[in-house]
Amino acid sequence: MEYLLTSDQYADALRGGRFLGLKCKQCGAYTVPPQKVCSGCLSEDMEVVELNRKGELRSFTVIYTPAEGFEPPYIVALVELEEGPWVTTNIIDFDPEQATMENLMGKKGRIDYKEVPADMFSGGPRVALTFKLAD
Ligand SMILES: [Zn+2]
Repeated sequence: MEYLLTSDQYADALRGGRFLGLKCKQCGAYTVPPQKVCSGCLSEDMEVVELNRKGELRSFTVIYTPAEGFEPPYIVALVELEEGPWVTTNIIDFDPEQATMENLMGKKGRIDYKEVPADMFSGGPRVALTFKLAD
C-alpha cells in the first residue's frame, strides 16, 4: 500500500507555500494532516487537494511547561478548517497572557506553519501549523 501524501510531502508543501490535505472520493470528508485512510469513513479512495487556510478557533490552552523546541508560554489551539477537519495549531502574534474565552473562542484566522527543531522523538526538523487571528 502506498501513501497518497506522506508527512514529508505534506511538510515540504507547507514550506513551499501550499497547505495540502486529502479529500475523500467516497464521503467527501477532508483529512488533515494526511493519513492512510479517510478520517470520515476509513476509505483509501482519496485525492490530494489544496486547502484555503481559513478556520475558526474552537478550543485552546496556554502551555507553560513546553515541549522540546518550543518557547513558553504559548497557546495550543484546535482550529476548525472551513473544509471541516479540526487541526492542532499554535496561535501566533497573540499575547498568551491575554488568552481568554472572550478574546479567542470562535475567532477566525489563517493557517500557516513554523519550523520546529528536531527533538529526541523525531528524525529531523519538523513543521507545526500556526494560526493567526484575522484583524
Ligand atoms: Zn471518506
